[in-house]
Amino acid sequence: MSNQKKNNTTTDAGIPVASDEHSLTVGPDGPIVLHDHYLLEQMANFNREMIPDRQPHAKGSGAMGYFEVTHDVSAYTKAAVFQPKTKTDTLIRFSTVAGESGSPDTWRDPRGFALKFYTTEGNYDMVGNNTPVFFVRDPLKFQHFIHSQKRRADNGLRDHDMQWDFWTLSPESAHQVAWLMGDRGIPKTWRNMNGYSSHTYMWVNAKAERFWVKYHFKTDQGIDFLTQEEADKMAGQDADYHRRDLFNSIKEGDYPSWTLKVQIMPFEEAKDYRFNPFDLTKVWPHSDYPLHEVGKLVLNQNPTDWHSQIDQAAFEPNNMIPGIGPSPDKMLLARLMSYADAHRARLGVNYKHIPANAPKCPVRSYSKGGAMRINLATDPVYAPNSKGGPHADPQSYPQNDVWSADGEFVRAAYTKRRDDDDWGQAHTLVREVMDDAQRDRLVSNVVGHLKDGVTEPVLKRAFEYWRNIDKEVGDRIAKEF
Ligand code: NDP
Repeated sequence: MSNQKKNNTTTDAGIPVASDEHSLTVGPDGPIVLHDHYLLEQMANFNREMIPDRQPHAKGSGAMGYFEVTHDVSAYTKAAVFQPKTKTDTLIRFSTVAGESGSPDTWRDPRGFALKFYTTEGNYDMVGNNTPVFFVRDPLKFQHFIHSQKRRADNGLRDHDMQWDFWTLSPESAHQVAWLMGDRGIPKTWRNMNGYSSHTYMWVNAKAERFWVKYHFKTDQGIDFLTQEEADKMAGQDADYHRRDLFNSIKEGDYPSWTLKVQIMPFEEAKDYRFNPFDLTKVWPHSDYPLHEVGKLVLNQNPTDWHSQIDQAAFEPNNMIPGIGPSPDKMLLARLMSYADAHRARLGVNYKHIPANAPKCPVRSYSKGGAMRINLATDPVYAPNSKGGPHADPQSYPQNDVWSADGEFVRAAYTKRRDDDDWGQAHTLVREVMDDAQRDRLVSNVVGHLKDGVTEPVLKRAFEYWRNIDKEVGDRIAKEF
């Protein structure tokens, strides 16, 4: 009950304020008094409005919508979100990787494609990109890779020499670099790009049978891109071009959508497939593993409080629900720890209480305490207990998203298989998927990038790197210097 006048401004404590415009002063011309608590609250809150940027993926935006299953994949997974005709609320965040929160949307970079499904069995997050592969396959190199993409220690500038130094010393990056330097390295809008899980995940069906899957969210708007020249121009004209495009299209009722298709590999086939199927620098050729349609993702709701609903959104691939599990992809296994850890550092330990991150199903956990706790903890605060607290039910929720492993502890690359190499799939992309016009733009993009500050000996290594991907393309690049 409130006897306040309708629509009267209040302090954050709900106390009606006397003015939106004037501080409390000693006479109209006198000093401001210290007990103007409303002024103090305004200034103090303002000073704390910004929260730390995400380390990678700082610049981005997102929207809400739903995912609807259109095709029956229950033979492969019992996951609630993928059962026939199920419709699930979703949240998505798109982003660039290297730029800070105010950086231009049209810089050449992979784009993040992070999804949260608010399922009946808890939140399911898929933290993917608009590329099906990644630059490195071992998480020990990830931090170094991101450092090479961000800013130098001395002048605080981004540096192409540093980027190519890392890439040319890391040949496993070739596939992703070939992808990045091609047309899809600068999507026209977020609506005009695909999203990929990139990682392989496990699906488990009701009979406890296991499968390996890769997700492909194919844009229904069609693939489109900006040339380097168009993107450079747009970076100056409208740094928020992609954010604006998404918001405006949803506002106008033009709801973007993606069709989810999955590649499915029978569990046993992974053991002797011709290359390691969990290697994040590789795709599974469609000829070996065709796409199966699953459903449609539609974005139909903009945020009303961008900070709370999008900037504070926390996606974490460790959020996997019954019927979905991890794979032995080393990058994925490390991300299962690092994402939640990043959220604890950036938003605090109780970040899952923020409405964007809170599940829309009951939570019966034993977590308690911590800064900014909102949900009330209740006794008993321990398990096992005989006081009626929640208890795990392995009959209903067995841990069956598992595989076996054996061997000495080592620091080593994945065991080599007959078709394991760093250049082959990059070559296929450049020579067989791209046409002549796309290859011309690829060469021009690489030459422009290399001419922007790359020095010897990195430059020579870059020519060799491209010759390893495709001899003719490498020679054409070298000829420009
Ligand atoms: P396919 O011919 O069956 O598939 C080629 C894929 O390449 C299509 O998914 C297509 O996506 C995508 N593509 C088209 N143009 C470009 C481009 N300029 N940059 C990046 N991707 C593009 O062949 P394979 O499955 O045998 O794969 C061949 C190569 O295609 C791979 O080495 C990989 O580089 C690339 N690729 C493969 C994917 C996979 O999961 N197999 C996924 C994406 C790329 P679309 O349908 O949207 O046109």
